Amino acid sequence: MTACADTSALVLFSGGQDSATCLAWALSRFDRVETIGFHYGQRHHVEMTARLAVREAMAEAFPARAERLGPDRVVDISGYGDLAESALTREAEIGFSEDGLPTTFVPGRNLVFLTVASALAARRAIPVLVGGMCQTDYSGYPDCREETIAAQSRALTLGLGREMRVETPLMHLTKAETWALAHALGGDRLVDLIVEQSHTCYLGDHETGHDWGYGCGTCPACELRAKGWAEWRAGAGS
Ligand code: ZN
Repeated sequence: MTACADTSALVLFSGGQDSATCLAWALSRFDRVETIGFHYGQRHHVEMTARLAVREAMAEAFPARAERLGPDRVVDISGYGDLAESALTREAEIGFSEDGLPTTFVPGRNLVFLTVASALAARRAIPVLVGGMCQTDYSGYPDCREETIAAQSRALTLGLGREMRVETPLMHLTKAETWALAHALGGDRLVDLIVEQSHTCYLGDHETGHDWGYGCGTCPACELRAKGWAEWRAGAGS
């Protein structure tokens, strides 16, 4: 038995609103937090820039938690992206495909991310992976379901021969509740930072500003983020 307690975590970190909130959540709970990102042939480099911007801004805004923030690692799995053709990895219309899944769905993406992340975590004796998977707003994504993640956690634990717990703090939250969680974790400072630095827009627009952050305002990711923001503000303002 290893002496390692659950004091460290590896956050699957894309630089979006969800994973930025997950990073703040992990920093509030674990003594040491590392991040991992994936290059899988995304069309938009802006995501990769946002990752570093969020990490830096968080370290600056919360110096006490910054001490817990360990290294970042980006793994190139663009070969997988080539296989998993979808609207995120090639020019195609964002909508719904014949099987009813959003065309932005990269098949099995989260399973691949968790597997690759677990290899790094095992090497670094980190027993916990943290991911922003959420089944509330993403009914079209079967690899975001709690049951999928629980099964994957068990498969990783068995396959690696060591505990690999997967924590998904956003699993049952709406987008409004994700904003509320960020506020509970770090107040306006954290919310402002996520608005300003995180990137969610499927079209890679990080120029057009809104109350809720940057984005085209019309793609499904922007709509979800804007709707959640409006709902949270309506509730938070009362
Ligand atoms: Zn957008």
